[in-house]
Amino acid sequence: MHQPTPRTTAAPRLYAGVDIGGTKVAVCLARAGEGGDPPAILTRVAAPTVKSGPVDALAQQVLALLQQACAEQQVQRADLAGVGVSSCGPFVRRAGAIEVANPNICGGLAGSGGGPQSNDWTQVPLQAPLAQALAGVPLRIANDAVAALEAERRWGALGGVQDCAYVTWSTGVGVGLCVDGRVLAGKNGNAGHAGHSFVGDVPGHMGAAAPLCGCGNRGDVESLAGGGSLADWLGQDAPTLLAAAQQGDPEALARVQLLCTLMGRLLYNLVATLDLARISLGGSVFLHHQALLLPLLRRELARHFAALTRGVELVPAGLGHDVGDYAALALLPSR
Ligand SMILES: [Zn+2]
Repeated sequence: MHQPTPRTTAAPRLYAGVDIGGTKVAVCLARAGEGGDPPAILTRVAAPTVKSGPVDALAQQVLALLQQACAEQQVQRADLAGVGVSSCGPFVRRAGAIEVANPNICGGLAGSGGGPQSNDWTQVPLQAPLAQALAGVPLRIANDAVAALEAERRWGALGGVQDCAYVTWSTGVGVGLCVDGRVLAGKNGNAGHAGHSFVGDVPGHMGAAAPLCGCGNRGDVESLAGGGSLADWLGQDAPTLLAAAQQGDPEALARVQLLCTLMGRLLYNLVATLDLARISLGGSVFLHHQALLLPLLRRELARHFAALTRGVELVPAGLGHDVGDYAALALLPSR
């Protein structure tokens, strides 16, 4: 029987991955991987996250970077097979379309301790201007930790695990969740913002002295354990503290133990709430010091309710430091 074989000589179409963070925006173009391999990244362009100008400046920056990446690969934006966007949150919706209300980007958010002073934005449009400019190219937007979870499930340490989480311990603390094989999104795509949950009192540091999170909370887990918060309340930034602990400094070790107690409570809360089997850990704080941190976190998790925590695996992100690159691409179908 005759099978038409159109476009057999055409090159495979490219996918775009957009990674929006509080400090930089990165765009890559990639070709789908062979078999179960991750995509092959062909081009990467990046710029500091724009924080001034009209309120759609961020969306315009994304489009300009997409244009630049497409020019490097000599393809048209309209010919892309899809655009995945992995963005810092939280998200809010305007007329159903995702907008970003992140305190590191929006200077008008109340409670932001060190937010940008260069704008008074409370939320910036994302989905609507991108969808309009991309005119029919498939577009999918997700929170960065949720996107990283999808990357870990497809190409990393969470393959075949129905009940799992990805936890990033970086400047902030983010979580992506999967239960019964379904990645959780929530009403605005904010499921997994557990970095802004509370994990209990820290003796001598709570009450009036508890550190202020960019979200407006005092003493939530991101404000206590996030790498961006340590200098304020411990007087040492994350690299300095962790390097001292790694060299055996007893005071630094005690502080790192305290951070792992707090992060361990977060991990336990996730396991107890969702009956998880495996959690993959990433983020710069964790990945740079995993030899020190992983055993401490495993011990903390195992200290709590054995009926729920026995057998739960804590593992380093299978994609390691590249998980951010692949997160946005994981939001798209592979062909
Ligand atoms: Zn917070």
